[in-house]
Amino acid sequence: MSGMGTDGISGGEEARWARVREKLRSEFGEATFNSWLKNIELEKIANGHVDMTLPTRFLRDWVINNYATRIRKLWQTEDEKVQSIDFQVKPLQKKAASPGKTTSIGLGEAPTTFNGKQPDIAAANSAERAALAAQLDPRFTFENFVVGKSNELAHAAARRVSEAKDKIPFNPLYIYGGVGLGKTHLMHAIGHAISANSPEKKVMYLSAEKFMYRFIRALRFKDTMTFKDQFRSVDVLMIDDVQFIAGKDSTQEEFFHTFNALVDQNHQVIISGDRSPTDLEGMEERMRSRLGWGLVADIHPTDYELRLGILQSKVEQAKIAIDSRILEFLAHRITSNVRELEGALNRVLAYSDLVGRSVTLESTQEVLRDLLRANDRRITIEEIQKRVAEHFNIRMSDMHSARRARAVARPRQVAMYLAKQLTSRSLPEIGRKFGGRDHTTVMHAVRKIDELIEDDMSLSEDVELLRRMLEG
Ligand code: ADP
Ligand code: MG
Repeated sequence: MSGMGTDGISGGEEARWARVREKLRSEFGEATFNSWLKNIELEKIANGHVDMTLPTRFLRDWVINNYATRIRKLWQTEDEKVQSIDFQVKPLQKKAASPGKTTSIGLGEAPTTFNGKQPDIAAANSAERAALAAQLDPRFTFENFVVGKSNELAHAAARRVSEAKDKIPFNPLYIYGGVGLGKTHLMHAIGHAISANSPEKKVMYLSAEKFMYRFIRALRFKDTMTFKDQFRSVDVLMIDDVQFIAGKDSTQEEFFHTFNALVDQNHQVIISGDRSPTDLEGMEERMRSRLGWGLVADIHPTDYELRLGILQSKVEQAKIAIDSRILEFLAHRITSNVRELEGALNRVLAYSDLVGRSVTLESTQEVLRDLLRANDRRITIEEIQKRVAEHFNIRMSDMHSARRARAVARPRQVAMYLAKQLTSRSLPEIGRKFGGRDHTTVMHAVRKIDELIEDDMSLSEDVELLRRMLEG
């Protein structure tokens, strides 16, 4: 490695690196960033090759295995000339100490920042409470959580657990659901609420990834006793994204013992995962079964009302005036998850702030073009056939039948036409879905309908109506 220090890096490169860091922070979240990514330093950039350093070998290997691909991608979006990156070990103390960089290097202990607040607030509390608070995002509270049909069970269970005084309502509480649907938010909300209601309780929140990291570190330093004590002495243990330790046998084993010890002592355990306990592949059967012993609450994908409610609550909190039609549009179109929905709103607002104009439907569509496309609902051929059959009052089976009477043949052609337009299926694929017809038949249908809608007003209206219904 060259002996070049930070002075070998241009201001532009520093700025790019700062942007990459910010993206990493927002993508992976504060906790992950502080544990693994915070101490990556830019060493030098030359000939499309970026050299970066980390203070320990362990951290370096971890970053290479888990984050290198993403880091390279982010570099490339900043600077397309970047071809490759490399991580070296460079112990911290050899560097000229710069403030804020020499603290608890990825040792997995409490991050030193107190969520943007002054560190002396943390110091005023007990060390444990400060450590917990540091892990919790202050925005993720029950007050900021909008309840709808899809999350009401998980929300009610989370509330119950945080209000419990002596008797534990269910143990464990297992919350699961897809990405970006509010699992982490609910767990943090539980943490905040318990700390507020029962300050004497020792609450610990961490991701399964971090649990694993701490465990591995304990093994390396032959200090598993302290590790065990740390976890077994808490009143409430929350482990986020448990699917992470599926397939990681020794961590799983240790987790199992910790889990049992806590549940046996009647201490509350709260787990989240991206799927139900029974579906956790790579997880031992006894573990899966124990995870399901208490209450299993799933969070479903959001519906329109909830999405709109979340958007309304966000703009209310931020005290921003925005046309309600824009919020409705976003709630209709960004259906993937809440994280993307929030991201979309933020982008729209940032854009209007930047150009100094109020948000319009046009600017929203423009700013979010890529996101909108990715969220486009996948329309199936079956759906098209069903809608078309209903519309023309024919039987669904006529979509597949050989009948050639105009009353069924024309609607069938309309369905083929829409299938070609609204799905990415090929002509042969479409043909197969229509009773095994040849691709030339489909091509003929598409042309025929194209021609007809030029002159036939009523047919053209039918097709337009169906298209709009299908596109939702
Ligand atoms: P998960 O852990 O399930 O992947 P998160 O809890 O990180 O999802 O949620 C992603 C983002 O969406 C967070 O910013 C969170 O505050 C927000 N969010 C999710 N559900 C809701 C909700 N019901 N009300 C308000 N914000 C929500
Ligand atoms: Mg999460």
